[in-house]
Amino acid sequence: MDAPVIEIIDTREPDEKNFIEGATGPWEVVIGMEVHAQVLSNAKLFSGASAAFGAEPNTHVSLVDAAMPGMLPVINEFCVEQAVRTGLGLNAKINLTSVFDRKNYFYPDLPPGYQISQYKQPIVGEGTIYIEVDGEEIAVGIERLHLEQDAGKSIHDQHPDYSYVDLNRAGVALMEIVSKPDMRSAEEAKAFVSKLRTILRYLGTCDGNMEQGSLRADINVSVRRPGGPFGTRCEIKNVNSIRFIGQAIDYEAQRQIDILEEGGTIDQETRLFDPKKGETRSMRSKEEAHDYRYFPDPDLLPLELEEEWVEQIRATLPELPDAKRKRFITEYGLTPYDASVLVADKAAADYFERVAKGRDGKAAANWVINELFGRLRKEGLSIEQSPVSAEQLGKIIDLIKKGDISGRTAKELFDIVWTEGGDPERIVEERGMKQVTDLSAIEKVVDEVIAANPDKAEQAKAKPNVAGWFVGQVMKATQGKANPKAVNELVRRKLGIE
Ligand code: ADP
Ligand code: MG
Repeated sequence: MDAPVIEIIDTREPDEKNFIEGATGPWEVVIGMEVHAQVLSNAKLFSGASAAFGAEPNTHVSLVDAAMPGMLPVINEFCVEQAVRTGLGLNAKINLTSVFDRKNYFYPDLPPGYQISQYKQPIVGEGTIYIEVDGEEIAVGIERLHLEQDAGKSIHDQHPDYSYVDLNRAGVALMEIVSKPDMRSAEEAKAFVSKLRTILRYLGTCDGNMEQGSLRADINVSVRRPGGPFGTRCEIKNVNSIRFIGQAIDYEAQRQIDILEEGGTIDQETRLFDPKKGETRSMRSKEEAHDYRYFPDPDLLPLELEEEWVEQIRATLPELPDAKRKRFITEYGLTPYDASVLVADKAAADYFERVAKGRDGKAAANWVINELFGRLRKEGLSIEQSPVSAEQLGKIIDLIKKGDISGRTAKELFDIVWTEGGDPERIVEERGMKQVTDLSAIEKVVDEVIAANPDKAEQAKAKPNVAGWFVGQVMKATQGKANPKAVNELVRRKLGIE
């Protein structure tokens, strides 16, 4: 069977800011990604066994997963729906006919001796993901998305003489999402994986947990002279954190440049990233598609979807991050940067909207991004675990707006609500945190302070800066509760400064 011929088109103009200076001139790195995303589903792709992570080894294994003779795969409709939903979320073409093939190879964690995957006719075709790097929007092409089974897990470090196999993961549905070689820096590749993860989470089709392996990236890296023909690529397998993706690319690009500058050539190979050393090393020479003896799985019919069913799924798509970001900018007057920060996590975006509804959007964004996110990060909590609810934060902002508390008191109040909980308004009442805006009360204190310091008051007439000292004294005398603006105005008027 012929391999699908993919024509690679260069969609990018060379940009100097991405060049890597070598001894013989500048180089440009070219990156394409293959991301494996575990489908969020209770059951596996072709069996009813649980797809849950972290169970006792070999407790989630059906006869199909164990490849017992005569067992037949039955497609899980929900996994198909999830793949279609993802395709729609990536602005991609949904192929109403797709075909499952067998990809043949031997490994102990693959009991049938083949992986069921889609090769020539994937369920999803071309699409686009938009990323933002240094304020610039870049379109990264998606080549395809196909459904396939995951393999089991081999465990080599439990016993000096034996290896173990855990088949819980065998047969779990994966979406392989393949990008075009449209990225030109480690930053862009990192932004691509973050953005893809955000979209998958919005869609609810993958939990995006890289630590648990539900999102893994294979990174294809090559280098070339800027704008020249594409170079030979190496593929770095299974990198499992965004930070490692950046490190692996930087290391690999430099390795290839060093070889080429010494007159060598790049062997197309599969490499592994060692996070401890920050290096990639050769794993095997690149396998070719024909090595896998792909052929359509005779146990499965071609997958035929109805247009109407696809449209039903489209109708249930949530608002996605790009649309939400645009709306946050127009509806709440946020800066593009703040909007991007907020929409990166759907729970954070939802929280922000609950705070911002009926209030000043910019103030809400400031509080959420600076105070709340800052504190959450410091304490290692997620937004779902925030001790301060959106309602409580909203009330704190209302108290500032009403002039009941100053910005400084608000921060103290935030801290009290964070550690002790409670209704912000009541806390302000009960602990006497309300700022004094009653002008006659403030005036009395201003008069007292001026009367007690006649020399300073005299100086202030010549040197208006001294007025600041009086403001400080009044704030001190009122334990910071006086409205600073009112104090400032009163002090200046009483001292006769205009
Ligand atoms: P394979 O399974 O053989 O790795 P795929 O077509 O599944 O092939 O994936 C190829 C990946 O490599 C894609 O992400 C593609 O964008 C990327 N790619 C292709 N050519 C290059 C190149 N010259 N440099 C970097 N990446 C490349
Ligand atoms: Mg590959």
